[in-house]
Amino acid sequence: MLQDKFGRVIDYLRIAVTDRCNFKCEYCMPAEGIKYDSQTNLLNYEEIIRLVKLLSKEGINKIRITGGEPFLRKDLMVLLRALSEINLIDKIAITTNGTLTSQYIDELLELGIKSINLSIDSLDKSRFNKITRTNQFENVWNCFEKLLKKDFDLKINCVILDGQNIDDIIPMIKLGEKYNISVRFIEEMPFNGSGTYHNVLKWDYNNIIGHIKNNLKNIVALNNEPGSTSINFRVHGYIGRFGIIPAYTRSFCGSCNRLRLTPNGVIKTCLYDEGIFNVRDLIRAGASEAQLLTAISEAIHNKAENGFEAERGRLSNKQIIESMAIIGG
Ligand code: SAM
Ligand code: SF4
Repeated sequence: MLQDKFGRVIDYLRIAVTDRCNFKCEYCMPAEGIKYDSQTNLLNYEEIIRLVKLLSKEGINKIRITGGEPFLRKDLMVLLRALSEINLIDKIAITTNGTLTSQYIDELLELGIKSINLSIDSLDKSRFNKITRTNQFENVWNCFEKLLKKDFDLKINCVILDGQNIDDIIPMIKLGEKYNISVRFIEEMPFNGSGTYHNVLKWDYNNIIGHIKNNLKNIVALNNEPGSTSINFRVHGYIGRFGIIPAYTRSFCGSCNRLRLTPNGVIKTCLYDEGIFNVRDLIRAGASEAQLLTAISEAIHNKAENGFEAERGRLSNKQIIESMAIIGG
């Protein structure tokens, strides 16, 4: 079992399979994009599968595939097929911007992959295109409708941005009147690839829920699943749900069950740390399973108590300058 010194059991691995993206969302990277790592520095599929097999024997039973845009990684379905054949992995979920996903829907279902988090920051085409710096709204909406038709367990991720998509909050929740989905409003985090984060987050959990309660009646609090980062609600009578993820105010760290693997093999035990060590280097230096496990277990044992401690512990880059595209969310 993978457990930290505070007794938290780690059973969920998030794998960012690429740093490449076909979007340049304002909150994730600058307009000019980010510098991508070389292909040879990325973990190859053999290395990823080896790590997942090893960690599954230690209790990891859920994986999320993310990025960058995961469907930009060449032959992603080959990796997903191999991961879906690992017996001890109960659930594989994917976070995607939805631009390239539609073509793989049937294959995903065949592999038993039914959990998709689709990022949609606005229901308004021009706002969506401005935030993502693309013209892909229709394409993404098309994907949303296709996933719904095929009965995926669908969540919408929406980062709340002051002055940009506040008017989307209520219409997003109202999607739940008709659709059995969960919309999750995410506090904006500093991982925008440029180190230019505003110091004060206006739209934190309290302001988001305040805005919702001022505009909608009959909001019912739901039980949150163990390890869930979202605080969840339903409007009475709706089939869908909504939640708020306090990703910046970090009130969920006490029940954190996550480990992160970046595209180039950095192990992160907290979203806010700057990376604990590079497991790719160990693998390529010929490490045995026991040596890999010792290194990962030690990193987990020393996991920061919460995201604030992890942020304070950053050594080389005190200020966060990374893009979320290299972390995976
Ligand atoms: N490209 C895929 C996508 O956008 O869904 C997967 C990778 S993306 C980094 C994963 C999630 O992180 C997305 O839902 C995105 O909205 C969220 N995200 C990215 N940058 C963020 C930031 N600065 N603050 C909060 N969430 C962020
Ligand atoms: Fe790409 Fe996702 Fe980052 Fe947007 S949030 S730029 S889609 S990685």
